[in-house]
Amino acid sequence: MNIGVLGAGTMGHGIAQVNASAGHNVTLRDIDPDIVEQGIQAIEENLEGAVERNKATEEEIGATLDRIQGATDLDAAVSDADLIIEAVPEDMGLKKSIFRDIEAAAPAEAVIGTNTSSLSVTELAGELEHAGRVVGLHFFNPTHILPLVEVIVAEQTSAETEAFAHDYVDELGKTATTIQDFPGFASSRLSAMFSREAVVMVQQGVASVEDIDRTFRIGFNMPMGPIELIDHTGVDVNVGVLEYLTEELGERFRPPQLLRRKYRAGKLGQKTGEGFYVW
Ligand code: NAD
Repeated sequence: MNIGVLGAGTMGHGIAQVNASAGHNVTLRDIDPDIVEQGIQAIEENLEGAVERNKATEEEIGATLDRIQGATDLDAAVSDADLIIEAVPEDMGLKKSIFRDIEAAAPAEAVIGTNTSSLSVTELAGELEHAGRVVGLHFFNPTHILPLVEVIVAEQTSAETEAFAHDYVDELGKTATTIQDFPGFASSRLSAMFSREAVVMVQQGVASVEDIDRTFRIGFNMPMGPIELIDHTGVDVNVGVLEYLTEELGERFRPPQLLRRKYRAGKLGQKTGEGFYVW
């Protein structure tokens, strides 16, 4: 298949990589040529890592890289595409305008996927004349390592598009789940609930940050505890997600005071050097 990936940032380059590794021809498009170049560079480094771990050969990574083209021009990425995956910043206005541009430039039968982690796919699909071909394809970060893709079914998504999405994810060698388009989908909603409760428990003095995280890591055999995860993804991002889910789903998601205090202090986690932990 010919796949156009829009946005070459954190997610876009990873999505381009897994598609090219699965044998698809990929055009990776960003408005910033430096980001296109950095994205392709990051893919090369990831693939070299696979060679070092004896998971791929130099020939295989050469062939994978040959299947990826960089572009800054929208037409180059979508005019001949069977599938377009949008991975631009999480902004409804921006995504809507890109959806309109895609519809004007892409073949009418191309499927349009969005990698949004929280926005309504139904609202996005509402921008298009042929909305049945829109589906959420929620990849996880880092995309070349994490095997889950949530297939988000919007109100308008046709049965054909949904089936296409599942076959496509299977062919990538990943696992698809079917999630209806409700706020937070499944992953963000579950993760927000665990992280929120963990912070409330620290606030109540039930246990230390370290012991709450140990409960998850060691007791449940998870790679990371819920509070470490907050520091990893960003206290600000977590406050934003919880506020959105409170608005959409109710009080049980309200950001706890301790989380707000870290936020107000600018202790946002790894990116500022301190959050619940010092990094
Ligand atoms: P990012 O900021 O790293 O990358 C977005 C890229 O889009 C930037 O390089 C930007 O230059 C580019 N861009 C902006 N306008 C564009 C346009 N008109 N055409 C093409 N490119 C354009 O963002 P990200 O973290 O990769 O997130 C992308 C999407 O994926 C968001 O919807 C986000 O919610 C979702 N997501 C992110 C993660 C994560 O862990 N970062 C995980 C799952 C889903």
